Amino acid sequence: SSRSNSNTIIQPNFKFEDMGIGGLDVEFSNIFRRAFASRIFPPSLVEKLGIQHVKGILLFGPPGTGKTLMARQIGKMLNAREPQIVNGPEILDKYVGQSEANIRKLFAEAEKEYKAKGEDSGLHIIIFDELDAICKQRGGKSDGTGVGDSVVNQLLAKMDGVEQLNNILIIGMTNRLDLIDEALTRPGRLEVHMEIGLPDENGRLQILKIHTAKMKENSIMDSDVDLTELANLTKNFSGAEINGLVKSASSFAFNRHVKVGTLAGVTPDVEDMKVNRNDFLAALD
Ligand code: ATP
Repeated sequence: SSRSNSNTIIQPNFKFEDMGIGGLDVEFSNIFRRAFASRIFPPSLVEKLGIQHVKGILLFGPPGTGKTLMARQIGKMLNAREPQIVNGPEILDKYVGQSEANIRKLFAEAEKEYKAKGEDSGLHIIIFDELDAICKQRGGKSDGTGVGDSVVNQLLAKMDGVEQLNNILIIGMTNRLDLIDEALTRPGRLEVHMEIGLPDENGRLQILKIHTAKMKENSIMDSDVDLTELANLTKNFSGAEINGLVKSASSFAFNRHVKVGTLAGVTPDVEDMKVNRNDFLAALD
C-alpha cells in the first residue's frame, strides 16, 4: 500500500538509550511487544488480520519509579500528540459535578479527528495519573458523593466507545493496583498491565548515569565519584530519589564555594567547582 500513515507509525531510529529512562529496558520492550507491535503493521494488514490495537495499558508500582516518564516516551515513540495528562484526585475535586463531562471532553478531540481523517488521524494519548483515586469510591466505602462511581462508569463507557477508534491510547497509572476497579482492566480496556518497580543495582547505575550526564559533560564531576559505588549505596531508592540525591550533592558542592559571609551581589567563585564523592556521601547521609 502507498498510503502514508506517518502519524501513527513508530518513529524510526528510536533508541531506548536516548530516552532518559534508566533500568526499564526489559519492561519497555515487553510493553512494546504486548501493546504496540500491531501499530507498526500497515493498517491494511491490521484490517486483514482482523486485529484490534491495544487501546489501554496500566502501569503500576511505587511512586517515583518512572511511570510518567515511560508514558511520555511511549507517546514520543509512537509519534503521538502531546499527551493529555489528567490526575485522578483533580478530576474528583476540581470538577465535582462535571467530572463526567470532563471525561467526555478528553475523548472529544480524538473522536472528531478520527471521524474526519480515519486511519490518518494522529495518535491521541490520554494519561490517567493516580487512577486509583477515582476508583476508591465505586461500590463499597463511598464518601457519599457517588462521584467516583459515575466517573468510573463514564470512563468505562468511553473506553468501550473507542473500540472502533484506532487513534486513542489510554495509559492508566497507579501506586495502588489493589484499588483499581477490575472492570477497568478487562480486555479491550486497560488490558496490558506492567509493573514498574524499584530499580535494581544496574538500574540505579543507569539512572545515576542519566542524572549526572550533564555534570560530567560540563566537567564538574570530580574524578573520585564512583557511580558503581553509589549504585550500591542506594538500595531501595526510586529513580526520583536518585535524581534528588544528585541534586542534593550538587548543592553541597555549591555550598562549599559560597561561604557564610559572602556578600550579597558578590558572585561566588565557582570556576573550579567540582561535585565530589564527599558531596554525594553527605547527600546520602
Ligand atoms: P508517581 O507515581 O509519583 O507519579 P512516577 O512513577 O510517575 O511517580 P516519574 O514522575 O516518572 O515517576 O519520575 C519522577 C522523576 O524521577 C522523573 O522525572 C525522573 O527525573 C526521575 N526518574 C524516575 N524514574 C526514573 C528512571 N527509571 N530513569 C531516570 N529517571 C527516573
